[in-house]
Formats: sequence, C-alpha cells, structure tokens
Amino acid sequence: MMNTRKGCMKTMSNKWINLVYEDICHVIPEKDIREHECSEECWCSPLVDEEDGYIVYSHNSLDGREEYEYGRKFN
Ligand SMILES: [Zn+2]
Repeated sequence: MMNTRKGCMKTMSNKWINLVYEDICHVIPEKDIREHECSEECWCSPLVDEEDGYIVYSHNSLDGREEYEYGRKFN
C-alpha cells in the first residue's frame, strides 16, 4: 500500500534545504529574499553547531520564517 501525498510539497513556499558536503551541512532557506552562500561567511551569520559528527550551519532567513518553525524544527 503506497501512501504518498503528491502535491503536499507544492503548498509549502517556505522550505529549507539541507546541503551536505563531506562532514559539513548547511541548512538554507529556499528562495529567500537574498541568496545565501554555502559558507560560514554568509551575510546572515549562520549559527554553527555540531550534530552526529557533522558541522551544521543554520542560516538565518531574511523573511524570518524560522520564527514560525523554531519550535517544530528541533522536536
Ligand atoms: Zn546564509
């Protein structure tokens, strides 16, 4: 029994992208007002964290979408 929900992605305009390069992961808001660099020197001053052996850069969106998702993201 396949229970896939096609179309559910389309309704989400505020998505986050995980870009993984070797042991570095960048979490970047998709289609942000300003484009992000996959670098710790990005204009948004990403938060650096370590998780499961990965260095994780959490970028800050310019449209403030993480304020809505903060509670859910880390559950
Ligand atoms: Zn950024």
